[in-house]
Amino acid sequence: IALQGLSDPELLRRQALIGGKWVDAESGARIEVTDPATGAVLGTVPDVSAGQTGQAIAAAEAAFAQWRRTSPAERAKLLMAWHDLMIAATEDLAMILTLEQGKPLAEARGEIAYGASFIKWFAEEARRVEGGIIPAPMTDRRILATKEPVGVSAIITPWNFPNAMITRKVGPALAAGCTVVVKPSEFTPYSALALGVLAERAGIPAGVINIVTGMPAEIGAELTSSPVVRKLSFTGSTRVGSILMGQCAPTVKRLSLELGGNAPFIVFDDADLDAAVEGAIASKFRNGGQTCVCSNRILVQAGIHDAFVERLAERVSSMKVGSGMAADSDIGPMINGAAIDKINAHVQDALDHGASIAARAETPEGQYAAPMVLTGATGDMLLASEETFGPVAPVFRFDTEEEALLLANGTPFGLAAYFFTQDMQRAWRVGEALEFGMVGLNTGAVSMVESPFGGVKQSGLGREGARTGIDEYLETKAFHMAGL
Ligand code: ADP
Repeated sequence: IALQGLSDPELLRRQALIGGKWVDAESGARIEVTDPATGAVLGTVPDVSAGQTGQAIAAAEAAFAQWRRTSPAERAKLLMAWHDLMIAATEDLAMILTLEQGKPLAEARGEIAYGASFIKWFAEEARRVEGGIIPAPMTDRRILATKEPVGVSAIITPWNFPNAMITRKVGPALAAGCTVVVKPSEFTPYSALALGVLAERAGIPAGVINIVTGMPAEIGAELTSSPVVRKLSFTGSTRVGSILMGQCAPTVKRLSLELGGNAPFIVFDDADLDAAVEGAIASKFRNGGQTCVCSNRILVQAGIHDAFVERLAERVSSMKVGSGMAADSDIGPMINGAAIDKINAHVQDALDHGASIAARAETPEGQYAAPMVLTGATGDMLLASEETFGPVAPVFRFDTEEEALLLANGTPFGLAAYFFTQDMQRAWRVGEALEFGMVGLNTGAVSMVESPFGGVKQSGLGREGARTGIDEYLETKAFHMAGL
């Protein structure tokens, strides 16, 4: 209903994209998409079957034969055209995103810019896929190492970044010469389908990008069991990532997995207090706390603890919670009821284990979680070992650097970590000791296209963005020329 405000209503597509055709489910089955701010049904999308997913895979396979042979310059040109259309459509894409996902419109605009940056970056990288010439052990031989696209790639993405998690994968896949079948989150399919409309307008050939909407398990089983699909790139929970990894084992697929985190945010006594508070706000409350790099545990050294908590509490208690469409909202609704239940369970468990509420922002009725600062957090609380994925900032007090590192690394996850100090020796020491794929010193933001994004331990496999991002979609071929 609110979507009538779009300047280009064609961007709101309610069909799946298979082999260049917009289609409904063969069965006619559809799933509803709701606005998390109001609970209103925004519309429906097809509930695509395993059989139709197979058609999408076949379409991607057919398109791959040609697409892999286009020149890198041609692929770069098409990707740039897609990028430019995304930028031109920012307002509409942001509105669709906010309506189905909930984040404040300003953050949604930011996500469109971030999402588009991956298409531009990999358009540029398409032309820099270089091989090598390796000295051979015999004189009549030359050895070449060349790079080839992996092949048909399955892309499964979450709801927290409905645009950027797709572009961060599809950008490098297409640049490398792969074709894709995308399965967006069932909570946020419209952002994905809008990208499909723009890709079509940019002139990206039919079958290069296929988008199947519907329930995850059936589509996922087809994508992972198909021997035609040579690669899976997944962003989502560690639980589902590990299931998919198992399902990919029989056909030995290449895997890129961006899974859950449990980010520590460490404030040492010698930190710049203003910078630390700003960093905590940026890293904890982005997208209402619903990102895998959001700080989950705020560890603060005893000497600065009270001052830090006081400042953080001030900021958090004045946060504005409300619909993402309202210009003054800092925090939108949570994605669904299950998210609210998990946040409430974490808070209740923390209070039961002795934590106290140092600040709590006013929060409207509905699918909203209250931004909160908890003090007295300890390792035996649920929020110490699980991602809360909401606007709750638990503060743990520590005394020594050694203790902070033990706490920070004491998790099976290793995605992002942040720490604040002005001591150069400590900066190196702690930066090197943190067992995480991304570490921010004196900053709460580490996601940008130039920087490799990814985790260690149970946070995943591979890196996205950066110069290495395209390698996830490339195979190296050793080509021996003998008898020379
Ligand atoms: P989140 O915690 O971000 O919701 P999920 O791991 O549940 O993460 O979901 C991430 C993506 O994985 C979504 O597109 C979702 O539909 C999909 N998904 C969930 N379960 C499965 C499954 N069994 N097979 C394939 N995809 C799945």
